[in-house]
Amino acid sequence: MFLLKKTFFTLIFFLHLFYSFSQNKKVLIHSHNDYLQDVPFWTAYANGLNSIEADIFLVNDTLKIAHTKEEITANNNLEVLYLNPLKDALKNNIGSIDQLQLLLDVKSEPISTLNKIISVVEKYPIITHNKNIKIVISGRRPESNSYKNYPDYIWFDHQDLDTKLSPENWKKVAMVSTSFNDFSVWGGKGRLTHDDYKRVDSIIKIGKKFKKPFRFWGTPDSKTAWRTFIDLGVDVINTDQPNKCSSYIGKLAKNRKTIQNKSEIYKPNFSIDQRRKKIENIILLIGDGNGLSQISAATLANNGELTLTQLKSIGFIKTQAADDFTTDSAAAGTAIATGIKTNNRAIGTDVNGKAIKNIAEVLFDKGYKTGVITTDEITGATPAAFYAHQTDRSMVDEIANDLTKSKLHFFAGGGASIFEESSLLNKFKLLPLNEVKSTTSSRVGVFFSEHEVPSIIDGRKNLLSEATVAGINFLSKDKKPFFLMVEGAQIDSFGHHNNTEGIVTETIDFDTAITEAIKFADYNKETLVIITADHETSGFSVSSGDIDTHTIEGDFITYDHTATMVPVFAYGPYSQEFQGVYENNELFSKILKVVNK
Ligand SMILES: [Zn+2]
Repeated sequence: MFLLKKTFFTLIFFLHLFYSFSQNKKVLIHSHNDYLQDVPFWTAYANGLNSIEADIFLVNDTLKIAHTKEEITANNNLEVLYLNPLKDALKNNIGSIDQLQLLLDVKSEPISTLNKIISVVEKYPIITHNKNIKIVISGRRPESNSYKNYPDYIWFDHQDLDTKLSPENWKKVAMVSTSFNDFSVWGGKGRLTHDDYKRVDSIIKIGKKFKKPFRFWGTPDSKTAWRTFIDLGVDVINTDQPNKCSSYIGKLAKNRKTIQNKSEIYKPNFSIDQRRKKIENIILLIGDGNGLSQISAATLANNGELTLTQLKSIGFIKTQAADDFTTDSAAAGTAIATGIKTNNRAIGTDVNGKAIKNIAEVLFDKGYKTGVITTDEITGATPAAFYAHQTDRSMVDEIANDLTKSKLHFFAGGGASIFEESSLLNKFKLLPLNEVKSTTSSRVGVFFSEHEVPSIIDGRKNLLSEATVAGINFLSKDKKPFFLMVEGAQIDSFGHHNNTEGIVTETIDFDTAITEAIKFADYNKETLVIITADHETSGFSVSSGDIDTHTIEGDFITYDHTATMVPVFAYGPYSQEFQGVYENNELFSKILKVVNK
């Protein structure tokens, strides 16, 4: 049964691979009026475009490349602009385009122009003998019943969707094209009107019946347009922006993903929310890199809601570090944990390198039990801000040593290998997660992994929510108040990799931990839950998607963090204190203020 299952999944995997492969392969990107680019040919060629268009005139026995007769210049001829550069590319093995068509849009008398094209191109056997290169004649063409008489490397752009050719002439057709403007005036923003969509869709279906690549000319030229045409099945995408279009289409399969994991929504009962009642326990959940777009994407991929989006007390925090407009996780974690803004890279130390007491230590002194959970290595910057005091986040051994000396009662995270030689065992009973429930030890550590913790995509499953339940149960069992920090760490890592699927699956997974915290707050009635982020990562945005298929298309402005504000959600007594817009370090004083009431 196992083998059968494995074979099945292998098959699905390869089918998937084949599908993505064939999908990517299918689309040709066409550099419209390529000669108008600052650098004709090379811009398109270097960006991997497989179709290059030039308007061509036969003038005084020379093949001129220009938009109109009036714009013809002495130098702009077919050989200078296209044949010589292409020859150079082939001769020197520059680029790896496995399919290329040079689309010559003939503006002068068809027969004489085509004969001249043939006599010129024949001087370039490196081009004419290359089976992957087609010289495609568009615009003014000879009679279609004469196509078969032309050399192998000459192909034709068929522009008449009503006419069928004889099989031998049909063999000479490289693609089928028609004008987009005949069916729609869409400008490439938003969506096609329903009527236009029907018209455009039906003409594409007619065009594709010929079993040749189908192209529209005169199309809008935007990300939305390129995506729309690809989705409608257009095979040749027209663009005046070779670089942008190639980059967009090249990343589309990675940027647009169907999301597989789910967060089962819990609807809070709100019986204690925003009440002026005593708070015993604090659960602080930090989504590393979890900005508003990350939350939006996860919400939209999760049937339009999360447990997080049920909450009513909502604010925003500003994340700037003491020495940098754009914070890292160390400075942001320290600001939240200690109430002091510090320099990037600093863990629990101020701008002068002096250790600052963090909230776990402050609350420990008030009789709290404290714990930290992360899907990062336990020495990662965010968890470390709640137990360590070092001037640089890269001082992993020193941070690890701080954990062995810390007052934490519970920790769970990755990175067991970091502690091989340490005295961690003197302090913590190290247990697998499922044994935390039954232990009588007073301090417990759980390692999820030797090194990094796997991602959801790599099969982490419910580890974070299970650890959250285990941590809450462990810290709450003797009725002492507790403070627990839970980090969803990998939203950030996938942001750094501009990986839509990773960001959304990790944010949905983070919501499953939030769910456990909110459920406990409803049960316990003296618990305040705060959910926030240390910063946003990647300038992630949700450009499109599909609620029904749980599909999200993400876009990115950077591989780094951004300085945008991040949301704060709160639930429980005094949660309204966390509304508004304020600095990240104010979270510390706000928590202490409500705890002391
Ligand atoms: Zn980061």
